[in-house]
Amino acid sequence: MSAVAAEKPKLFPLRRRTGTAAFHLSKEAVDFGSEDLERLTDLGAVRFVANLLWGSYKEMPCPHCGTIDEHYWRRKELRWKCRGCGKTFSVTSGTVFADRKLPLKKILKIAYGWANGASGKPALQLRRDWNVAYTTVFALVHKLREGLVRGFNTGVLCGVQEMDGMDINGRRYREKRNKPQGGKRTDKPKIPEHLLKPKEEAAPFIGPPDPPKHGKTARQPADRRILLVMRQRGVVPRLGAMATRIGVALNESTATVTAMATRFASAESRFNTDEDPAYAAFGKLFAGHKAVCHSETYSLPDGTNNNQAESFNFRMRRSAEGIYLSASNKYLADYAAENAWREDTRRLSTGKKLQYLLRVAMWVGLSRWWRGYRQGKHRAFEMLVSGEQPAKGRGRTKGAKPKVPC
Ligand SMILES: [Zn+2]
Repeated sequence: MSAVAAEKPKLFPLRRRTGTAAFHLSKEAVDFGSEDLERLTDLGAVRFVANLLWGSYKEMPCPHCGTIDEHYWRRKELRWKCRGCGKTFSVTSGTVFADRKLPLKKILKIAYGWANGASGKPALQLRRDWNVAYTTVFALVHKLREGLVRGFNTGVLCGVQEMDGMDINGRRYREKRNKPQGGKRTDKPKIPEHLLKPKEEAAPFIGPPDPPKHGKTARQPADRRILLVMRQRGVVPRLGAMATRIGVALNESTATVTAMATRFASAESRFNTDEDPAYAAFGKLFAGHKAVCHSETYSLPDGTNNNQAESFNFRMRRSAEGIYLSASNKYLADYAAENAWREDTRRLSTGKKLQYLLRVAMWVGLSRWWRGYRQGKHRAFEMLVSGEQPAKGRGRTKGAKPKVPC
């Protein structure tokens, strides 16, 4: 039998499996569940968070003065009193969850459900799951995203990196990719040539060539964005990339990709990109640069490819078009940082993922963008690789009341 099987010709080289699917079905993938959170008492929840933040629920730094000590424990209030400054603090004081109204257990449950989504979980769904106000859960998950933007999407990558940009947002961005705004309809039924009046032959045209209608020089919709991604390849073969950084830009030009790469890559990095001319200068800026021409192949015979960057693009596309549906440009970097985190933690077990998420999000300090959200304090800018840019919200104008049908 084996001889017959060996003779069977292979029509194409089979893709090597990385084992991610096997991991998700394995026992190790789920070491923690909703029931474990349900079983926690209020004290147990405090200890759970204290342990993952400080490695101990007895000794910790005071968020007011920084004294590290075994502070006085107030059992009834579930708070500590500082031995240094005498102020009291809870396990969420000085973190993005400071001044919370929700009980800690409920926050943990919502964060757990949110962390388990493969490419995101909508705030509306969480609201239905947990019966809380939409703005409450929206601000809560955005605080987690803020933690990922400020705590996860930072730091320099090294080694072999893959970089790519994808079109996102903007009016009909997908059909109009690389086409100018207000392009002609192409789906009109065409009249066959032989039914038309024969055209008179025009005199040969003499003059400069037409300006390019398509491509990067064409005018783009003002609300279209390019999401740039850099991924560092792992050292273990066939396990994919291990670290991801994202950035949002108005276009994919030499200036924007260089700004992104010099922020997140060490000079010794070697880059793999597609054949886009924006990356042409990378050979001089970094230790190496290889390009793969995507109109011809996805991987050169020597293995040059940027498929790990494309893998992130695909997850982001699923998130934007299948989960969040209408993420605004203002918060696009936040959603992208969330997906970068999801991509990098794809092989962590559920318990480790929750702990990692909370540790990153709760170590960035107080929330800068979401404190007082329900009182009308909203972030007024979107984050681009070139800096911050003023952005308006999309909700109701201030003071406007919804129309009530009579
Ligand atoms: Zn203190």
